Formats: sequence, structure tokens, C-alpha cells
Amino acid sequence: MALSDNTTLEREQLRKVISIERDGSPLPLDVLQLLKFCSDYYHHPIGEVVLNALPTRLRRRHALKTISAGAFRLTATGRSIVPGELPSRASCRRDLMKFLGDNPSGVDEKALFAIAPSARAALRDLIKLGWVERCSAPAIEPSSECLMVAESPQLTEEQAAAVSLIRQHPHGFAPWVLRGVTGSGKTEVYLRLVADTLKDGGQVLVLVPEINLTPQLESVIRARFPSTHVVSLHSGLSESERLQGWRAAESGTARIVLGTRLAIFTPLPALRLIVVDEEHDTSFKQMEGLRYSARDVALVRAKDRGVPIVLGSATPSLETFAKAESGQYKVAVLTTPVNATRSTIDLIDTKQGQLIDGLSQELLKAVDTRLKRHEQSLIFINRRGFAPVLMCNSCNWTADCLRCSSKLVVHTATRRLTCHHCGHSEPIPAVCTQCGNQDLMPIGQGTQRIESALARLFPTARILRVDRDSTRRKHAWQDMRTRINAREVDILVGTQMLAKGHDFPQLSLVGILNADSSLYSTDFRASERLFARLTQVSGRAGRGSVRGTVLIQTQFPEHPLYRALQLHDYPAYARELLAERRQAGFPPFAYQAVLRAEARDLKTALDFLSSAATAGSTVESEVTIYDPVAAPLVRLAGLERAQLTIEARSRAALHKFLAAWREHLPLHGKHQVRWTLDVDPLEV
Ligand code: ADP
Ligand code: ZN
Ligand code: ZN
Repeated sequence: MALSDNTTLEREQLRKVISIERDGSPLPLDVLQLLKFCSDYYHHPIGEVVLNALPTRLRRRHALKTISAGAFRLTATGRSIVPGELPSRASCRRDLMKFLGDNPSGVDEKALFAIAPSARAALRDLIKLGWVERCSAPAIEPSSECLMVAESPQLTEEQAAAVSLIRQHPHGFAPWVLRGVTGSGKTEVYLRLVADTLKDGGQVLVLVPEINLTPQLESVIRARFPSTHVVSLHSGLSESERLQGWRAAESGTARIVLGTRLAIFTPLPALRLIVVDEEHDTSFKQMEGLRYSARDVALVRAKDRGVPIVLGSATPSLETFAKAESGQYKVAVLTTPVNATRSTIDLIDTKQGQLIDGLSQELLKAVDTRLKRHEQSLIFINRRGFAPVLMCNSCNWTADCLRCSSKLVVHTATRRLTCHHCGHSEPIPAVCTQCGNQDLMPIGQGTQRIESALARLFPTARILRVDRDSTRRKHAWQDMRTRINAREVDILVGTQMLAKGHDFPQLSLVGILNADSSLYSTDFRASERLFARLTQVSGRAGRGSVRGTVLIQTQFPEHPLYRALQLHDYPAYARELLAERRQAGFPPFAYQAVLRAEARDLKTALDFLSSAATAGSTVESEVTIYDPVAAPLVRLAGLERAQLTIEARSRAALHKFLAAWREHLPLHGKHQVRWTLDVDPLEV
């Protein structure tokens, strides 16, 4: 980070330098600045911020040496050697020296080894002589010849308008919101902007919520730019794959970096454009350790580097939406799906008529019609397992997790009860552990129960369940997608996994179960999230030539959220929600931080927060310090949790307070309480 020859720290707080890594270049200044910003903004120790940002592999000694795809160049001594004067029996050495001399910025080892069978040994000798050294991979000079762009579809009028709007400000910081309904072709807009940037010699950073859920984007990008070095960076890679991708980005050879939130810290010397796809998605926020929002950090980075940033979504977060409304962000809009007509969204009132395992007659009839027409149906329920509760009919005992304040979920496939919070699992008991009654009832529905109900009701239909349990095996989800596209599936039952970015051309019906549970939640963000999720799921219907139908089962068909959804009018609904937030003084009209504490028992956690609150009240400030309360899920994995919310009318006031307050908080590790500070929390 920096050098210093004096310190106020105690001797025993200092650590010895073990070795200095000279095989890589130092972190670029802009990345250091960004890390420093995160440390300040999220009030998190700089060391942890840096470790969070770098590939884990870098923590090993000589990590950079072990990279196989290396490159070499002449040292100063090597440059003073005239190859032609080398003895003629050393012909391989001579060729290597000549080749390296012709390419001063370095040569890839593969190219060197191709010279002769003995090249590997000769190279080793040259390194020993001190004539040749390793260097980072040579930067490929971008030129218009080497940038190949595969055939692209003709833009729709709306896409063309969006592209030329955003192109008006190709240089300098410009935050854009690309609000486009599902299927309106946001990706094509990104691709055109990416092509511009590549032509300019720039690098592009594309952030996506979860790479497993958006594998299509990666292949689309690779297919469009076949001659461009694209790296993808996400937590599913091996340590060395991640390090290699990171170095390719750092050296400038990778022109496109596609990654999840951790990719935001990648060094990119020629960064010219940032795209954040599905910017509203909560997985951009890290929920542990450094609790940063990659989307927010991306905005900071774009501003620092003076480059445009495009935030794409069908349902922008209210934070982003408010900035677009106030003119802080510029807006481009896509209102119509490219290849399809909009699906119709109908509501099924579940207060009328009987349900079979949670499925209404109307929905079943619609599925039946699709089966007869050889079209696919998708039943969406955001809960895996068979049933969320196991209950005794005679004494009302329920199977609870002993380590969490939650119920155990019934899984019939494995015949076990599982806690979805801590992972605890046990066999399904044969009798009630409280009264010995044998009549234990699974209450409610999960994907497994819907799957078996449908199998019973439609015995000849080919049914596929897609959730975290059924896709655990490597490549399972990929194989399933192939089967779906090959029309080997009639009915899909699944969770959130099915909602994102997949095109299933034969799918013409989406049925949504159990959406109501988020309608009257205590979390003020619940409606915003539900709307986004339902929009995304609804977008799965009718991507092909047949018109899509969405059927939502609800007890509250009059609810404004469903009304807005039916009208496909997110902006109107977002404005309503914003008005409510303004009235209630919630974000984005207030700025929050949450101090979270966990301990063996709730009282210890609450006491800790109370004394933190007292310390906070001595800090002169304009913030509101709320009373400590138990967390929504009090017990988790054997620990009890509490939280304390701080709220301010301005960001500056919040941060002024937090900086002063942190001085009063005890250091970690010396207490029975573990605490973390969450700035701009997504859950309070
Ligand atoms: P979004 O991300 O906005 O939901 P996509 O980018 O996935 O939408 O685009 C939806 C579909 O439309 C994709 O299959 C894409 O290939 C196709 N598409 C996008 N733009 C065009 C276009 N201009 N011409 C033809 N097809 C297009
Ligand atoms: Zn009982
Ligand atoms: Zn548990």
C-alpha cells in the first residue's frame, strides 16, 4: 500500500516482511484508491478489504511464478548480446535471442517453445545466464484488423435509439440507466457499446449477479467477439484460473472481463466502459465480511476513471430509479419485447375454489391445455423441499431447528428434515417426539411436493424439477437446459434458478405459487423485490413464437402490486413506492447503517449494542440511533443475533458519525460478541 520508515505502533504489532514479490507489477494506483475508498466508506479494515479484492492464490509465496502461460523478454544484458555472434552450435539459443530481440514487449512461452524441440532447455540456459527474464504476457495491440465482430442482428428502432443516445457521451463519466422490459434486447445494446469500446482500444467490465444463472451471456459475448480475449471471473473458478484471468485483465490482454461482484476490483489499465446487468439484483451486495455493494462501487470506479457506466434492468432498484427521476442518471428505455408479444398476466383468486396440493383448478387446466398443444409450462415456487413444516396432528408440535429460530424443511427425496439456514439435517422421525403420535403432517408446499402432485395428476407428462437440490451435481443444470430446449420436458417446476435470463422457446405458460408471502412483510424492500422477481419469472413465458400466459395464484388479487404487474407498468409502481418511502423517511430518502452483533445469548448481544448506542449518543451528530432489537432470525447456527440501526438525512452526516463512533467500538476478538457494521444495508 505504501512505505514508511517510522511508526507509532507497538513493536509486537509489527510483522516481518517475508519476501517481496517481484514477479508481478504493483497494484495500480486507481485500484489502491478504490480499496481505500471501500475501507473508508464501509468502515472496514484496509487489510481485509485488500484481501477480499485479490485472488486468493496471490497470498501464496511465488504465486506469480507458478503461472504456466507466461511470457519472456530480454534483460538489459540480453539486449547487449548480438545473436549472430553466438557460436553456431548454439543455433537454438541464437534463434530464441533473435526472436526475443524482435519482440521487445515480450513473447508468449508457447511461441518460444514452438521454435525447436530443444527450446525449453535453451530458454532455461538463457535465464540462468541472466539474458532473459519472465514478464507479464505481452499486451496485444488492439487494431481494427484484430477486432472481429460476428454478424449482429439489425437493431430495433428502440435499441438503435438507446445505442445512439448512450454513444453521445462515449468519454468521461456518465451514469446510464438502461431500463428495458424482459426480452427487449438489453444485451444487444450492451454488445454494441462493447464493440465501440473495443474498437477504441478500451477494456470493458461487465458485472452480472450470478454467473451460473447467466451462462448465456458469456457465450453470446464470446460468439460476438471471436478474436477478443474474454475472461470470466467468479467464485466458481479454481484459484489458479481466477489468478490467470485476473492477470490477463491486469496486463491488458483481456479486453472483456465478465464477472460477479468480486470482479469490480480487477485491475484494468484500459478500462473504458462498465456494464452492470440486472443492477437491482441483491447478489451484488456482499452479505458478510466487507459488506460492499458492487454496483455502488462500480459507480465510484466509473467516476474515478472517468468512464461511462450502464446500469441495466427491467426493474431498477428504487435507489437507482430515484436518481434517474431526479436527473442524476441519464435514462434509455426499451419498452417492447423484440421477438414476442407481451404475455398476459392473470390472477387466480385462491380464496375461491379448492386447491390440490396448493394447485388451483384453473392453473391445472391451463397446464393441461399446454400439454395437449405440446407446449411447455413452468410452475414457479420459491421454496425447495417437500414442505416447509412438519407438524403433529394431535399436539401441534413442529419440527424446529435446534440451532436456529426456524422450522426444519421436509425433504422426501432424501427422507430428511433439513434446516435451510444452517444446513443441519436429520432423518424424518416416525412418530411425534413430544407425544408419540404417528400422524405427522407436512404443511405447505415446496418444489418436491408440487413435482409429485403434478406427476400424479399428469401421469404421462415429463416433469423436471430445477432447484438447488436437483442441480447439485456438476453440469446438472447445463444438462437440464439441453433437455428443456430439446423439448424433452413438458412441465418445469422450479425456484428462482429458473427465473433468470433463460430463453425457453417452447414455454408458453408460467404459473406462480406462494407469491403472497412477501406482500405483507416487515421488510420495507419486500414489495420492490417481489415485483422484480415476478417480472423476471413472467418474462420466461412467450419468448418464442407463441404468446405467453402468466397465472398468479393469490389471496389478494386486488393488491396494487399485482395490478401494476398486470399493466406491465413498473415506473408507475416504482413512483408509488418511492412516495411511500419518502413519507416514511426510508431509503433512498434516508441513509442507514446497521450494527449487527452475535453472541451465545441474545442478552449479551443486546447489552453490547446498548453500550454501543450509549457511546454513540456522546458523539455530536445529526443521526438517529434506534434501540437495539433482536434480528429477524434471532438464532442462527447456535448464536443469537441483534442489531442496531443508525439513520441520517444525508450520507455525509452518516459517515461523519460512523467515523467518530468506530473509535468507541471495541476491537474484534477481545469480546464474547462478534460485531459487524453494515453500511447501506439491504436488510434491516
Ligand atoms: P433482455 O435482456 O432485455 O431481457 P435479451 O437481451 O435477452 O433481452 O433479448 C431477448 C431476445 O431477443 C434474445 O433472444 C436476443 O437474441 C433477441 N434480440 C435482441 N435484439 C434483437 C434484434 N435487434 N433483432 C433480433 N433479435 C434480437
Ligand atoms: Zn405430538
Ligand atoms: Zn438451523
